[in-house]
Amino acid sequence: MLSLAVSLKMNPANAPLTRRTFIQNGTLVLAATSASSLPLYAANADSELCVGLVTDLHYADKPAGGSRHYRETLGKLEEAALQFERDQPDFVVELGDLIDAADSVATEQKYLRTINQKFSSICNSRHYVLGNHCVDTLKKQEFLDGVGQEKSFYSFDQGDYHFVVLDSCFRSDGVAYERKNFKWTDANIPAEELEWLAADLAATAKHVVVFAHQRIDVNNSHGVRNNAEVRNVLEKTGNVKAVFQGHSHQNDLNDINGIHYCTLVAMVEGSGAANNGYSVLRLAADGTIRLSGFRNQIDRDFS
Ligand SMILES: [Zn+2]
Repeated sequence: MLSLAVSLKMNPANAPLTRRTFIQNGTLVLAATSASSLPLYAANADSELCVGLVTDLHYADKPAGGSRHYRETLGKLEEAALQFERDQPDFVVELGDLIDAADSVATEQKYLRTINQKFSSICNSRHYVLGNHCVDTLKKQEFLDGVGQEKSFYSFDQGDYHFVVLDSCFRSDGVAYERKNFKWTDANIPAEELEWLAADLAATAKHVVVFAHQRIDVNNSHGVRNNAEVRNVLEKTGNVKAVFQGHSHQNDLNDINGIHYCTLVAMVEGSGAANNGYSVLRLAADGTIRLSGFRNQIDRDFS
């Protein structure tokens, strides 16, 4: 987030005169937008973490196709950015299909630059989950280079939580999706990634939240083919609280063996501001997770 947020309780003397003020979690907060400023103090109460979530933006400068309004994603993301500016998330996650499928690599890279410029202006700390559309025209490395992310699957700690980003863009024969070499219904998490995941989860005692694109809770065409095997790994340590995923474009929730599999609504679906969808996730130290949904995104309370 390029805004500077300072609690009056913490640091009243450093607040420049130009700041706007607003109330957040009962605390008067001063905020100003400045490209050179870094957050000094998280505006969120206690040790609660705040995460901004968007999914299935499918940005492309092309006419609408069916219910997908590709160009409108830019305006919808601007609205989400205003909300995130208020909430000051610790980081933001884009849950896949940031772009659609352009006719050429050069055009796709242009679309990626356009949408990522807007997404990047929201927050300095960002995570990108690979969606099948991200690697339809681009190769994985081209997409990752385009958004400045090193790996397609990895984990990180923040506060009392351990976060995992998964990559299900692999065919059932283990070959990675790379530009027109796959069917979108053949999504898999290969053995090597599952082994890494099992070891990664075994090494943490924190609450775990997973971010994925293709669904891990269903057996239909939107599901990862080896979803049962993946769930087995997720269930083993007992730490995994929730999985946030996209891909099927509609709100959904399945609770399976103590893990909440929450599917978020797609930003690209439908025309006009009312058909937007994005959310703010709040994660408390005790493992309570609350999702505040905006526009078509449903609220969720995992306490
Ligand atoms: Zn999608």
